[in-house]
Amino acid sequence: MTSPSIVWLRRDLRLEDQPAFAAAAAQGPVIPVYVLDDDAPRQWRMGGASRWWLHHSLERLDADLRLRGSRLILKRGKAHEALAAVRRETGARTVHCIRHYEPWWRNAERAVAKQFELQCHDGNFLAPPGSVLTGSGQPYKIYTPFWRALSERMPPARPVKAPATLPAPEFWPDSDRLEDWGLLPIKPDWAGGMRAEWVPGEAGARTRLREFADRASRYGQRRNLPSVEGTSKLSPHLHFGEISPATVWHAVADEGGSVGTFLGELGWRDYAQNVILQYPDYGSRNAREAYDRLEWRHAKRELAAWQQGRTGYPIVDAGMRELWATGWMHNRVRMIAASFLVKHLLIDWREGERWFWDTLVDADYGQNAVNWQWTAGTGVDSNMFVRIMAPLTQSQKFDAAAYIRQWVPELAHLSDEDIHDPKVPPKGYPAKIIGHAEARARALAAHSAMKTPE
Ligand code: FAD
Repeated sequence: MTSPSIVWLRRDLRLEDQPAFAAAAAQGPVIPVYVLDDDAPRQWRMGGASRWWLHHSLERLDADLRLRGSRLILKRGKAHEALAAVRRETGARTVHCIRHYEPWWRNAERAVAKQFELQCHDGNFLAPPGSVLTGSGQPYKIYTPFWRALSERMPPARPVKAPATLPAPEFWPDSDRLEDWGLLPIKPDWAGGMRAEWVPGEAGARTRLREFADRASRYGQRRNLPSVEGTSKLSPHLHFGEISPATVWHAVADEGGSVGTFLGELGWRDYAQNVILQYPDYGSRNAREAYDRLEWRHAKRELAAWQQGRTGYPIVDAGMRELWATGWMHNRVRMIAASFLVKHLLIDWREGERWFWDTLVDADYGQNAVNWQWTAGTGVDSNMFVRIMAPLTQSQKFDAAAYIRQWVPELAHLSDEDIHDPKVPPKGYPAKIIGHAEARARALAAHSAMKTPE
């Protein structure tokens, strides 16, 4: 019998439009292996919400594989060591994977390539990161020209169907039991809101896409309104690779209508990967070094108030509570809440990034870092620090009354007019942690001080 090959899975937990599976199945028997994330440095090990998602996604993938005569093998440890154990048990010499761009995954790919014939495939992005270049062959730093160049190469190839069967190896290697990984919260079980909101796995991703495709042409008008479901909510599915961006692209484009704004958001996803490919430590270092001199405040109690949704700014609090309950927050509100932390509270963006990393079901190294650095003004392509968002005006402008009512029940009785900025905070709801004008002046002063080193 031909020796089996391994499909090494990471953030690509799908069978449809999954080139690593397609290539491996064409060669002979296939051993699908997922290795838990000991390759990532401690700081970037998956957060709690992502682990909850991962458990369910792996469970669904295993069930889908079994329908095709296969199964999922689970291992812990460094990827190259775990895969070497599989080789000892089965004789597998070739590894197929989809290329990843997080710095620790790139290192892991190098380590695996030393021991195996490693075949890396593209397929998690619209175009392979690093391949969209300026006329002089340089990577883009700024989103708009990047997107223009990427658009010229679109549409992506049509998605490839999932293989009907996957040839099994003669012997299956040992596998850990998913339940033993302890990915689910037990004491306390904080995942009730996530169970109510999400169906992790490939089938759940397809259902979300179908529902969204029908209303995609209204995305441009509704995407900034947190009170309506105007966006796709595909982010965790895309992050875990339960659906390919090409599948999303074609499902939406086939519906017709004005879907350009939505496709541009998929472009932001690609852009973020290009940024971390150029700046692997983007998640931990200011891209603009001048900001290393900004005097962030160390304000633990205020950070906790922000995390718990108790700042006295209803739109910020609603967002932070939505995040805690469901593992997701509306993009407009993410921008407002992030800006509030960085500018109103003058707390280092990396504190916010860390909190999002732990609590988002779509926590993604590239997308999270790019968006935090954009908000903080520290990134290669960023909003200016001195442009300070006014949360109360944003809340009114984007009609967030119903959203606030849903997530901040202490304010539910207030009128649409008063709810954005209650004149007297009702019992149980905190007064504003700092006034807007005062916060704005403090942030601008810190920024000016940063520009003039002693
Ligand atoms: P849609 O509006 O339906 O967009 C479709 C897809 O495009 C999304 O699923 C996502 O993959 C991509 N996308 C949309 N907006 C952006 C963006 N600004 N940057 C990069 N990709 C985008 N997104 C993450 O997936 N993971 C993160 O860790 C993350 N952290 C963020 C942190 C901050 C401070 C901010 C402001 C934004 C962050 N985002 C992150 C981007 C964005 O908020 C989410 O992708 C979006 O809200 C997901 O909802 P959706 O699937 O309904 O998006």
